[in-house]
Amino acid sequence: MNLVIFGPPGAGKGTQSNFIVKNYNLYQLSTGELLRNEIKNKTKLGIEIFSIMNSGNLVSDEIVSDLIEKFISNDTYKDRLIFDGYPRNKSQAENLNYLLKKYNQKIDLVLKLSVSLDSIKKRISGRSVCSICGKIYNEYFNPAPINAECCASKFLQKRSDDTLEIGVKRYQTYEKNIAPVIDFYKQSNLLKVVNGETSISDINSEIGALIEVVKGWL
Ligand SMILES: [Zn+2]
Repeated sequence: MNLVIFGPPGAGKGTQSNFIVKNYNLYQLSTGELLRNEIKNKTKLGIEIFSIMNSGNLVSDEIVSDLIEKFISNDTYKDRLIFDGYPRNKSQAENLNYLLKKYNQKIDLVLKLSVSLDSIKKRISGRSVCSICGKIYNEYFNPAPINAECCASKFLQKRSDDTLEIGVKRYQTYEKNIAPVIDFYKQSNLLKVVNGETSISDINSEIGALIEVVKGWL
């Protein structure tokens, strides 16, 4: 099966992708990583990508599509791809369908991790780090123990307010940009919205159950 995963920054998309990769022997295709690898390996395309990004421009849909096609056309990855960071718009979504069809594949499931802006705010603003031992706490979800010697409140450090502002902006931009793509998959009945506000293991189970259902259909 091939699947696409969506989730705003801070929703735990990375954690959930790792879970799927491990348990279902899939391969995570992150477009950001693909681009960085080309640059790192100094391929001909990598040099081109570097100069595009370096001048502050976006890498064209065509370049990204070529990179993705390398994986879709490779039998090693046949029917076992998780698309992460792609598609980002409706035309990319249509292109992805086209590419998959070319190699007798399709998208079987689209997951959207749903987290409210309020939760994202709490995840960012509630976060603090013990300056002694480095443990991370969250005053809303995982408060430091009362009467603790090491992780006492005087040792806990919060991140600055602009971190919250940036986080909120990123969330809003992501949700706004991704809405047409989400609609696209909703119309093809592939979309499953997963509550990203429960515990990591609950989210794992929910995603696992969805995958099992789809596997049963294949
Ligand atoms: Zn501590």
